[in-house]
Amino acid sequence: MRSNATEQDCVFCAIARGDIPSDSVYSDDQVVAFRDINPQAPSHVLVAPRRHVASVNQLKDDGELLGRVMSVAVTVAQAEDLAASGYRLATNHGRDGAQTVPHLHVHVLGGRALSGRLG
Ligand code: 5GP
Ligand code: ZN
Repeated sequence: MRSNATEQDCVFCAIARGDIPSDSVYSDDQVVAFRDINPQAPSHVLVAPRRHVASVNQLKDDGELLGRVMSVAVTVAQAEDLAASGYRLATNHGRDGAQTVPHLHVHVLGGRALSGRLG
């Protein structure tokens, strides 16, 4: 299938392909995880599907991939040793959700006490 312009230009597609370097912490045939370039906490990892999906809003009917991404997010949190102290999983959609990269990703955040404020 021919990629559309969005995929061609997509930074996380390029990271998943290995065309842009990243600090990878996990990779399988469907999902990649890599450290955020501008970390907001001592552990800040992004978990993304390999295939281009604009945001979680596109995955209403693909619980399997959504489940894979969330499962990897938990795997990463445990590997970062965050389970005992706690961690946050977050995903943003669209303008009001403050999404800046239009390729679905779940933030894994931990390693300090996070603010209870979510917006
Ligand atoms: P959003 O605001 O879309 O939920 O989060 C996008 C995240 O991607 C931000 O936390 C930002 O720091 C991170 N980011 C943007 N470009 C890159 C990049 O090229 N490499 C990595 N590792 N993270 C990036
Ligand atoms: Zn993409």
